[in-house]
Amino acid sequence: MLKLFNTIRKEKQEFRPINKDEVKMYSCGPTVYNYPHVGNLRAFIFADTLYRWLKYGEKCNVKWVMNLTDVDDKTIKNSREKYPKMDEKTALSKYTLYYEGVFFDDLAELNIQKESFFNNPRATEYIEEMKDLTRMIYEKGYAKIIEGSVFFDLVSYVKSNDYGKLINLDLDNLKTGTRTLSDEIEKENVQDFVLWKGVKKGEPYWDFELDGHDLKGRPGWHIECSSMGHAILGLPLDIHTGGVDLTFPHHENEIAQAQAGYELDTANFWLHNEHLMVDGKKMSKSLGNFYTLADLREKGFSAEAIRFFFVFNHYGSKVNLSDESLEAASNTLKNIRNLLSIKKEGSKDIVDIRDRFYGAMRDDLNTSVALACMMELLKGDYKKDEVSQFFKEAEDIFGIYFFEKNVKIPQDIIDLAERRVEAKKQKDYQLADSLRNEIIAKGYELRDTQGGYEIKKQ
Ligand SMILES: [Zn+2]
Repeated sequence: MLKLFNTIRKEKQEFRPINKDEVKMYSCGPTVYNYPHVGNLRAFIFADTLYRWLKYGEKCNVKWVMNLTDVDDKTIKNSREKYPKMDEKTALSKYTLYYEGVFFDDLAELNIQKESFFNNPRATEYIEEMKDLTRMIYEKGYAKIIEGSVFFDLVSYVKSNDYGKLINLDLDNLKTGTRTLSDEIEKENVQDFVLWKGVKKGEPYWDFELDGHDLKGRPGWHIECSSMGHAILGLPLDIHTGGVDLTFPHHENEIAQAQAGYELDTANFWLHNEHLMVDGKKMSKSLGNFYTLADLREKGFSAEAIRFFFVFNHYGSKVNLSDESLEAASNTLKNIRNLLSIKKEGSKDIVDIRDRFYGAMRDDLNTSVALACMMELLKGDYKKDEVSQFFKEAEDIFGIYFFEKNVKIPQDIIDLAERRVEAKKQKDYQLADSLRNEIIAKGYELRDTQGGYEIKKQ
């Protein structure tokens, strides 16, 4: 039986889906306004690991939804700066679609496959559902209209409902009339939060009429996940995932909105991955330890090694990213591949170790014990075909290729190589060289052969 650490119960709990034939899983997705950093990516690698375990380990049918926040303060501001002459909505969509592409490219490199998602709804495609939920909350007396915006009325909500199910909050200081238009606030500031923001000059907006008020504007951030989760999967969800920084206010507010409007729980299980530390410190722009996937690749680490590092460090621990820890992950992966390729025939069958592996994964995805089981299989006197079969399954479970021959060359690398062939034909050797360097920088070896070229993973 699979046990998962449920933030709402603050303990490990046996996981059973509401409908035994299907697991409804929702992950808070990115705000598509810049290049994601590896701290963000950790959350998606964790969700993918959970998805894969449910699918390949537990043999569940999983419907996984991850939203894309394509309207908020940051996307609006940046899109206005980048495309000042365009109309507001076109600029917003042009700007966010670019970073959506960047995001899915990063996911693809980390072997989080787009086909794994049941749906990736964009916020701007669910505005009607967000208006509906805002209206429901308002009509039930848990929202108020102030200066063209709609705020969730926490004071009236906490009279008959719990707020602070995921983290302990000091609600004694909750006073009526303190409110915030900002989506991200500090833990001490429990305030009425915004459901619908009235339009400011030069911003994109949608029409909204509520209780005789003309409320041109756009949705707040928190209302997105409640509306889209409900519209696509139906609440309550089996599992809701996100980074630990989202527990408050985002997830607390999601719970309050769905309770106030739909009168439904949001999710049975809340799973949160811990922060990523970089060189022992919290990652931040001002400390200069703020890395994107491309930054790490430039340092010489492959996307596979990065995925390996995240998968085999437990999602619930504050893991420390450094050159040394990535180097160690990279070496362990190389070591596994090498041991698999030179594996000798053995006499023992693997059933006991296999059971231990399953036991570890079913204990809140204890991947480090699972990895220790895998190393034992490689080093011990085990039957070769059973070990091979096991590692083939493990490739699906972890999304990492353990057999050399399975290392697929991604399409973008092949494209670079093809462009280089073309450049050589045109005798543009400078371009050919720079393309070659690009391929090497991405972690591949390129060799010219008689018929063309050969690419291998470094
Ligand atoms: Zn969310």
